[in-house]
Amino acid sequence: MSTVAILLRDAYTRLAQTSATGRLDAELMLAHLLGWPRARLLAERDHPVPDAVSATFAGLVVRRINGEPVAYLVGHKEFYGLDFGVDRRVLVPRPETERLVELALAAARRIAAGRGGPLHIADIGTGSGAIAVALAIHLPNALVDAVDISPEALEVARANLARHGLAGRVRLLLGDLLGPLDAPVDMIVSNPPYTILAEVEPNVYAHEPHLALEGGPDGADLYRRLCAEAPAKLQPGGTLLCEIGAWQGELVAALARAAFPAAEVQLFQDIAGRDRVLRVITPA
Ligand code: GLN
Repeated sequence: MSTVAILLRDAYTRLAQTSATGRLDAELMLAHLLGWPRARLLAERDHPVPDAVSATFAGLVVRRINGEPVAYLVGHKEFYGLDFGVDRRVLVPRPETERLVELALAAARRIAAGRGGPLHIADIGTGSGAIAVALAIHLPNALVDAVDISPEALEVARANLARHGLAGRVRLLLGDLLGPLDAPVDMIVSNPPYTILAEVEPNVYAHEPHLALEGGPDGADLYRRLCAEAPAKLQPGGTLLCEIGAWQGELVAALARAAFPAAEVQLFQDIAGRDRVLRVITPA
């Protein structure tokens, strides 16, 4: 029988060649298999590990070496301090997208300060439901519609709503972009597919759903369609917030100015200083 220390040391060495986060990856995978919190691995380094667990671990290490996201291998991912179940049916939530959530929370509080009644928010292309859940948890008076064109993704989102006790307050709607919304909302939030598929990082291309990534020849197809649909689906004084690719800021801002000539259009950067979020505030 092997021990925690031996298994981890062996895995670090193998993972170091392909992953910049080999140590963390190995710890997350072994902790997952043992059903332990990660810190316990350090406290109980000499703990024996049953052969069956070692064999399963070896299989996960190989899949990680082949570029599968750790989040799929362990079946969950932390986003905005919350835990989400994820698998191949949805894009893995990215840390950059936390910026979109921060800006959405600020926008929601500004709208709510100006008037009473519950806020109505739509998360377009919800995937795992990470954005919708984070907003619903931090805005207890909001009603959230979470829309996706993928029935499979909505199943993952449904499980995440249950995990966070939100099944009653977040509605899941199957459909294309803003089509399923029956009335204008106060805020539209979206992390749509925006990559140029041919330029996507090979591991992302090989493992994550192309439906959640493919944004057409310049990555901006979904922004064109969102900008065409959004004016009819946003209340006066409403806010549209979209995650964007770092290279798309000026292009997407121009699309938004054309669609909302009287609105305030602004770009926000991620922690690396790259354009990451578009915000449109329509006149009240
Ligand atoms: N940030 C993701 C990536 O670069 C893309 C997410 C998206 O298309 N919405 O892999």
